[in-house]
Amino acid sequence: MNKSPCDILIHNGQVITMDAARTIHSPGAVAVTGSRILSVGPDAELRQRYKAVKTLDAEGAVVHPGFIDAHNHIVHTTSRGVFDNIFDIDALPVKFADLKAGVTPEDEAAATAMAAVEMLRCGFTMFIEPGSLFDTRAAAEAVERVGMRALFAAPYLWDRRETFDAMPALESDSLMARVPIDRDRAISQLDAELHRNRDPKALVRGYVAIYGVGTASPELMQAAHACARDNNVPLQLHASYAPGEGDIYRAINGISQLVHLRELGVLDENTVVVHANLLDDEEEVAVEQSGCQIVWCPITYFSLGIVRSASFRMAQRHRRGVRVSLGVDGAFDCTPAELMLAAHHAARAGDDPLHPSALLEMQTVNGAAAAGLQSELGSLEPGKRADIVVRSLRAAGTYPAVNPVHLLALTMGSGSVDTVLVNGETVLCQGRSTRVDELEVSRAVTASVAARARRLGIKSGPGRTVLER
Ligand SMILES: [Zn+2]
Repeated sequence: MNKSPCDILIHNGQVITMDAARTIHSPGAVAVTGSRILSVGPDAELRQRYKAVKTLDAEGAVVHPGFIDAHNHIVHTTSRGVFDNIFDIDALPVKFADLKAGVTPEDEAAATAMAAVEMLRCGFTMFIEPGSLFDTRAAAEAVERVGMRALFAAPYLWDRRETFDAMPALESDSLMARVPIDRDRAISQLDAELHRNRDPKALVRGYVAIYGVGTASPELMQAAHACARDNNVPLQLHASYAPGEGDIYRAINGISQLVHLRELGVLDENTVVVHANLLDDEEEVAVEQSGCQIVWCPITYFSLGIVRSASFRMAQRHRRGVRVSLGVDGAFDCTPAELMLAAHHAARAGDDPLHPSALLEMQTVNGAAAAGLQSELGSLEPGKRADIVVRSLRAAGTYPAVNPVHLLALTMGSGSVDTVLVNGETVLCQGRSTRVDELEVSRAVTASVAARARRLGIKSGPGRTVLER
């Protein structure tokens, strides 16, 4: 029998496809041609059917679709070790919002390159940036240099400030000077990143995001919703993030935030609500009836103490068919690799456990849906983009290899990623970037953070050390 050609054949893996039937082929194989998946199936069948330019033996390890981080303020990763607790305003030399506002394009490029390399090493092939980059051109170049995917939106679109009383760490004069609270600015910038979508092959694409958490007027929310709908991209916004936010919103508007969004026609299948930590009963109904999606940030859920403030409802929402995806928010004290583990423990603590397969759905197919790219990404199926992660059995957390779904969701972490393909290209090989010098990237971001700290007057001291250079 004549074999069909393909570019890459990944074989001898425990292939977790995340297709509609949640098929696992073990041993399984994936054939890739160009930027797309040609075929997925049993190992023997694909080896008989395809003659590959290059073969990759997974040695019995897990092969899975690239994870998608549905909410990652990518530059916040560089706040690690600079602030112990961003909300402890009295103990900090400057506010977190000042640190956010104090970046140069070079800082953003350095931070994005390093965080993107880290994400590949954690098995992620895409992240959604929630509109907190000031120079998206520099950051997009960094993402493309590393070779992963991202979704970008215009920075900090807002036109109201009252709810910041519940989140004082997130506003400052320097931030508001850089991205003024202004309706005309916000509305005029809604589509600022959508030009990227003209190139169907672009790794960095655009979508519409407003900051949310009550900082948008009805006019801004409706303009954002219309812009997203007209351009066939999702609308994302933060909502129900911190205790107190909902009370202020209700006091001003006389209605709960998500119920208001529903009344305004802004909450539907195309809308992605980030956090949804403290919804009241009416808001729960609005979420279920509207078909909107939720991005859950479980590590933020812990760090804000939501576990003490509200009953745990994320597992129930998932069971009722609400599409829930996962986001790291700011990777201050973690990497994105710990997201599913944090969600698992939050659910256990909330007395409503989430099965590891549900966690994988949140990190793959539901993440793709949050990006509006479910037909292109999120699972290993013929025709989809070849964003594929091959783990290694030679790493902690990978044995016994009898239940790959459990291990992949909870124990494999960041140390077991061997090879990553994005768009059919090998961008990580034997755990190392094929595109950039990782030491150079690491040194550049360290120098950038130290220089930013110096500019802002953040000094080393007890309990806080910023590298002096
Ligand atoms: Zn956020």
